[in-house]
Formats: sequence, C-alpha cells, structure tokens
Amino acid sequence: MHMQMDNVDTPLLKLEHISQVYGSGQRSFTAVQDVNLVLNEGEFVALLGPSGCGKSTLLRLITGLQSPSEGRVFYRGGVMKGVNPHASIVFQTFALFPWLTVLENVEVALKARGIPKKMRTTRALDLLDRVGLDGFETAYPRELSGGMRQKVGFARAMAVEPELLCLDEPFSALDVLSAEALRGELLELWTSGNIPTRALLMVTHSIEEAVFMADRIVIMDKEPGRVVKELRVPLIHPRVRKHPKFLEVVDRVYAILAGQTLPEYLELGTAPGEPGKTRSLPHITLNELTGLLERVAEMPNYRADIYRMAEELKLNSDHLLLLMESAELLGFATITQGDILLTSLGETFAEASILARKEIFASRIRRLPIFKWMIAMLRAADKHRLEWEVVQTALELEFPVDEAERQLDTAVNWGRYAEILAYEDNTGIIYLEPSASLAPGAPAAKEE
Ligand code: ADP
Ligand code: MG
Repeated sequence: MHMQMDNVDTPLLKLEHISQVYGSGQRSFTAVQDVNLVLNEGEFVALLGPSGCGKSTLLRLITGLQSPSEGRVFYRGGVMKGVNPHASIVFQTFALFPWLTVLENVEVALKARGIPKKMRTTRALDLLDRVGLDGFETAYPRELSGGMRQKVGFARAMAVEPELLCLDEPFSALDVLSAEALRGELLELWTSGNIPTRALLMVTHSIEEAVFMADRIVIMDKEPGRVVKELRVPLIHPRVRKHPKFLEVVDRVYAILAGQTLPEYLELGTAPGEPGKTRSLPHITLNELTGLLERVAEMPNYRADIYRMAEELKLNSDHLLLLMESAELLGFATITQGDILLTSLGETFAEASILARKEIFASRIRRLPIFKWMIAMLRAADKHRLEWEVVQTALELEFPVDEAERQLDTAVNWGRYAEILAYEDNTGIIYLEPSASLAPGAPAAKEE
C-alpha cells in the first residue's frame, strides 16, 4: 500500500475548467462551459441531463477524440494530449462489421491495438464468454438480436481492457428486457472486480437507470451545457427499484431536475388531518396536461405565451391556470412573465415513452402529502383496500364535503395513471397496486 502513496490523491480523471465552442465568429456556439469534474478509481458515475447539454461532447473530450477550446483534461495526474489509449466508449448502437463473425468483430479491436494474433483469439473468446455470448462466436451480426449485438459491442469495448470505460446511452436502443439483462451483466462484471476497468462513466437519459447503477450522479443542464449538481447514491448493490430508500434518491434527482426551490413542506403542504394546510390537487385530467406539455415542447426554447396557448388549445383561462398549476406542482414547468417554460424534467416527460411517463409521474405524485397519506392508509388496511366512502370521510377533516369528493376523484384518476392505485367501479373499493405496496423501511428484498 505505502508504495502507492503519491497516487492516493490523484484522481483517475480530472476535467479542469473545460469549455467547448463549436464553429467560429458569429456562428460560434458554446456547447459546454466551465465544467469541472473528477472521476476516482473504483467509481461508477452517471451523467444525466437534457438532450443537447453536451454529454456526448464531454465523453469525446474525456477519451481524447477531440480537445477542448478551453481548460485541461488530466489523466492520472498528467495533462492528456491526443486519444487516451486507456479509455474506450460504448455507444448507443454499434457499427459491427456485417461480414465478420462475432469473434472476428471483437478480434478486430485487439488487432487495432497491436495485440499478437494468438493472444487475440484467446482474449476475445474469454470476453464473449463473460458478456454471455458463449456459443455465438461463429454467428454473424445479422443472426443476433439487438441485445446480443450490443453485447458484442460491450465485448469489443472491453477487449482493450480500458481503465476507463465510457458508455453513451448504452441501453437506450434496446428493448426493455434486453436492456435490463445487460445492465445486470455490466453491474456484475463491475462489482465482481473481474475486469481491469478502474472507473465507469455512463451517459443516460433515465433517472432510474442512473440511481440503479451509479455511485454518483452528475446532473447537467443546457444553454450553455454545464454541471449543475452532483449527488452520491448511498445504496449498496444489488439495488431494489421499489425500495423506499431507492425511491428517495430518485425523488431527490427529480427535484433537482425540476429546479425545485422551496422546501417541500412549504411547497406541498401537510397531510390531511395534520397541522397546517393540505395542498389540494388541481382538478385536471392527464390528457390535458400531457397535451399542453407536448405542445410547449414543440416551441422554441420550450417556452410559450400562456394566453396564446389558451387560444390554441381552446381552453378557458381558469382551466388553463389549473393546468399550469399542475405542471408547476409536478415540477414540469415554471411560469415567468406570462410565459410557461418547461423544466428539464418537463422536457424529459414530454419526450418520454408512455411507460417512462408513467414512471416519472408516479415518482412525482408519490411525494405529494395527499398521496403519501393515502398510500400509508391503504398499506395499513386489510388487503391494502379501502372503501371510497372511508377515504372520503377522512378527507372531509381537511376539505368541505364537495371538495373532498373532488379531491379523491382527482387523486384516484392520477393514481391510476401512475399505476399506484386502482379503483373498482362496481364495488367502490380503492386499492394499492401490488408494486406500490412495499412498506417503508421493509428490508431490501431481491428484485423479482
Ligand atoms: P448531448 O449528448 O447532451 O445530447 P452533445 O454533446 O451531442 O449533447 O451536443 C451538445 C451541443 O453541441 C448540441 O447543441 C449539439 O448540436 C452541438 N454539437 C455537438 N457536436 C457538434 C459539432 N461537432 N459541431 C457543432 N455543434 C455540435
Ligand atoms: Mg449524446
């Protein structure tokens, strides 16, 4: 140990005041501005942020595929010049050579690094085995599924035994199941210590993916691209997505992306029956809200004049204000000077698939006191079910009768969309969806 004393404080990678300008003169454009970032040995860091905030640019700078307009990149304490031979990148999709077999596609990368023929085959076979492609060595790319092709890509990137492995949205082109399987395999390789890789840096669009995999999350924003916040993920592997501690970290990331400024108890109020006022839910439907967010997402700079929106969407202005209030309550938008402006989170939501939208929405409403309270009541109830009347009566402690009913109506409507709650019309029973019924503080069960 003592022999490495001078290396103890030297990070594997360090970005110091990095800026990247593209183009020149009048046309010049600052893609990233004054980024400082440290990556230590043993760390898995995720980079999160809206499209265009410069994530891919940073990866190219880190691997030396391009050099910054300003600032310096240090690798093991030395200023980096040219391509970094100790780093490699896994891209979203791989350009495999269609005329080469799986094995040959991996060997090519080793050949490019000047590794002798005999060693190439041994090493390539070993890697294919580790990523779970044993038995497919002689197959051609066209015979493989998307997930398997991506595994070949991983094997190729790891073939050169990079100390620093960068991943640029590596799972986003895969179907849900292949992505999950490959995430598990990467984590297993990494946590087992069976690969020479010393650090991982992964760009992702998915908050859950970042919290699931990384030790630290670096959050960027754009115009100009910059780092706005970093946070540690204090969870051990294997992580369980529905675990309250997991959800807590997810919520913190959402709050940062939503640009939340007020403390939660001021912004969201208290639970029904507790001292303090409960913030009521605006009575809107989710179709209207998603319609509005999608429309604003099409506008330049994700910003639109509120009254022009009202005209265009044929909404009266009272109702539009309710939609605005919902968008703000959920952290999807801010209102300034008569304009609605999407937050990074709102942008992500508007561009997400239906399934991803439900996930985002669920995370956002789970933090609202009225939902926390309902979920807690249902958890405590026999079979996690309660009659509508019972919940409404409890809400009447806080709201007038009519309003209590309307609040419950909206809560059930939102909770159904988020797949947290369900409601049976014929029996008048509200119940928790099984996936939402894990009790807080429950021991980390194995992910099913
Ligand atoms: P991200 O990966 O976060 O989506 P990128 O790093 O790809 O962001 O791009 C950041 C910004 O820089 C975008 O506005 C993009 O259009 C611009 N950009 C990226 N590469 C180039 C380039 N080679 N020349 C000019 N502009 C570029
Ligand atoms: Mg990119």
